Amino acid sequence: MSRTLPVQKNDIIDIVFEDLTHDGSGVAKVEGYPLFIPNGLPGEKAKVKVVKVNKNYGFGRLLELQEKSPYRVDAPCPIYKECGGCQLQHLSYEGQMQIKHKHVKDVLTRIGKINTLVHPTIGMSEPWRYRNKAQVPIGEQEGGLIGGFYQQRSHQIINMEACLIQQEENDAVVKQVKEICNKYGVKAYNEANHKGDLRHIMVRRGLITGEIMVVLITRTNEIVHKNKIVDEIVNNIPSIKSIIHNVNNKKTNVIMGDSTKVLWGEETITDYIGDVKFAISARSFYQVNPEQTKVLYNKALEYADLKGEENVIDAYCGIGTISLFLAKKAKQVFGVEIVPQAIEDAKRNAELNDIHNVDFAVGKAEEVIPAWYKKGNEADILVVDPPRKGCDDALLQTIVEMKPKKVVYVSCNPATLARDLRVLEDGGYQTLEVQPVDMFPQTMHVECVAQLILN
Ligand code: SAH
Repeated sequence: MSRTLPVQKNDIIDIVFEDLTHDGSGVAKVEGYPLFIPNGLPGEKAKVKVVKVNKNYGFGRLLELQEKSPYRVDAPCPIYKECGGCQLQHLSYEGQMQIKHKHVKDVLTRIGKINTLVHPTIGMSEPWRYRNKAQVPIGEQEGGLIGGFYQQRSHQIINMEACLIQQEENDAVVKQVKEICNKYGVKAYNEANHKGDLRHIMVRRGLITGEIMVVLITRTNEIVHKNKIVDEIVNNIPSIKSIIHNVNNKKTNVIMGDSTKVLWGEETITDYIGDVKFAISARSFYQVNPEQTKVLYNKALEYADLKGEENVIDAYCGIGTISLFLAKKAKQVFGVEIVPQAIEDAKRNAELNDIHNVDFAVGKAEEVIPAWYKKGNEADILVVDPPRKGCDDALLQTIVEMKPKKVVYVSCNPATLARDLRVLEDGGYQTLEVQPVDMFPQTMHVECVAQLILN
């Protein structure tokens, strides 16, 4: 016999919000049955209508807020609700810091049974206008090209002039490039019939250097009036260092295609994190919030607590960002990364900084590191910075066997962090502390660094 649910569709009930989901929806529980209700904040009391019930959870609509959270604010962005890129603009920054801290602590306890010290979230003094990269889908309206964002849960493009989490200069560059392409009759790509041309405009800007890269992503190899468009971009944008053409002729949501060529200027722009210099190409992964990246990497460095004698492995090293930070304080650093292009960038970045005690290898961390271990290459300290799905179990098992005296775990997903910390704890490690760092203000994302020592 099926269990009767505590609520039915169309019920109107009074609830208290307890939590937020990863997409910023409020969560309330009725006799343990979770209801997801957009726009509610923890602590708020409200009247809601149940709009859908599933076996294990349901959805509701907010009818009336009866008691507001002291942290509720008006979202400053006029397109906040349609866009969906941010989820927390209706929560004050102080409230965001608290919710992220609580989320990390709850997930560590619930999923990993890890009861460790979780420090308060390190936030930004100015939690707006932080992104160094804009990727704008292009569409058409009667007046010509528009570009902005896909309306939530649709592929309808809405025009956007300003994005409040984007560096202001990027907004201005996107606008200019849109206007220039429009003037020369560039047609927007049309997803429905796979015709037209300009799919995305991407802009990257070095926070410290101010250098700008513009990437035009088109369906075909040809751009109409290419030379005139390039000239106008160069004449109108003084900080431009690089104009890149990327061709993507596939029917896909993936933004960039395989062919990338320089139309004008350099192949890369440069930027600094602390005093380490990075060359960034159109395709390479580079953290989007450089100010907080520095905070995050400094924390990783502090947790590694290097004395200069250590061999360090940096697994999932990307373009070598953390590796180069660590190399200045370690004897030798070995970075591993699955994307060959990223390893090329990592090697170039090592040269650029005159750092010679680093080695980079292409491959899966869970294959390369066990192979090193079999050959007798061990690390005193191991740093991991995996993608959202966390570390592969084969890598965790190798860590447990290799027994580096310290593990520093940088994570963009508290749930997989908790799962992996449990494996490491069962294998003899102790999580001393966890530091959440807010790399993505106004969104639900939270980055963490954890310090583990061998018991
Ligand atoms: N530490 C870097 C990159 C972190 S992002 C930085 O801070 O910039 C995670 C990286 O892991 C990506 O570069 C991704 O390409 C890489 N990656 C994903 N799966 C991997 C695997 N199985 N082995 C090694 N690297 C992997």
